Amino acid sequence: MIKNNKISSNFIECPICESNSFAHLFKKNNEPFVKCNNCSLVLINPRLNYEKIKETYNDDYTRDYAKKAISKLRRSLQRVNKVKNQFITSGRWLDIGCSAGFVVKSAKESGFDAFGIDIEPWGINYGKRSLLLNNLVNGTIEAQNYPDNYFNVISLYDVIEHVPDLNLLVKELKRILGENGVIHIITPDIGHWGVSKTLSDWKEIKPSEHLYYFTKLTLKKLFNKHGLDIVKTDFSFKTSLKAYIQHSDG
Ligand SMILES: [Zn+2]
Repeated sequence: MIKNNKISSNFIECPICESNSFAHLFKKNNEPFVKCNNCSLVLINPRLNYEKIKETYNDDYTRDYAKKAISKLRRSLQRVNKVKNQFITSGRWLDIGCSAGFVVKSAKESGFDAFGIDIEPWGINYGKRSLLLNNLVNGTIEAQNYPDNYFNVISLYDVIEHVPDLNLLVKELKRILGENGVIHIITPDIGHWGVSKTLSDWKEIKPSEHLYYFTKLTLKKLFNKHGLDIVKTDFSFKTSLKAYIQHSDG
């Protein structure tokens, strides 16, 4: 957790439309939640600098996750099957923010050549040791130098709302996604009918952790900027956005 009170924070321009004009919504844990006056993206701004954000993650989070292995595996398999039944049945699958590797394991067992990456090392070590997965790496995707058009499926489950530099990520997704490949994203949906009327009470409002709160429209705008587009969304009873994204120029 954050130990000292003197925390440096950064003001950022809107990562989608580059506007500098925001409407204040509320503060939680002293962090300002704002809405872009141009494209309507909701985000924390200014926000803690990245090193401070990283300190808010700790191993306990992943350890708790590993304890719930059976239910996590079941859910991972359901997600893999969604992609398999609607888009692609084989090829290379990359799970970004893979944690202990449950999605990687499920994709592998479903016939994919599956890879996982996470910035947090504990989950990676757990996955290698306990799930016997070899294709897990600790680091950022930009540092891996994957070949162009390499992956048939790229999944980001509960990940994109945490990423410090969205444009860097999406640009890299565009580059490494195969010609007819699909990106499967699950992220909290601030446009969902189930979101609390008092927005600050919504369970997904997490200072420092969830940096952005997308609607289908703001997520679409972000990907459109980089030559990608949402081709389908799945219905969700929970306040989640479940989107499938492909090259818009292919
Ligand atoms: Zn904007």
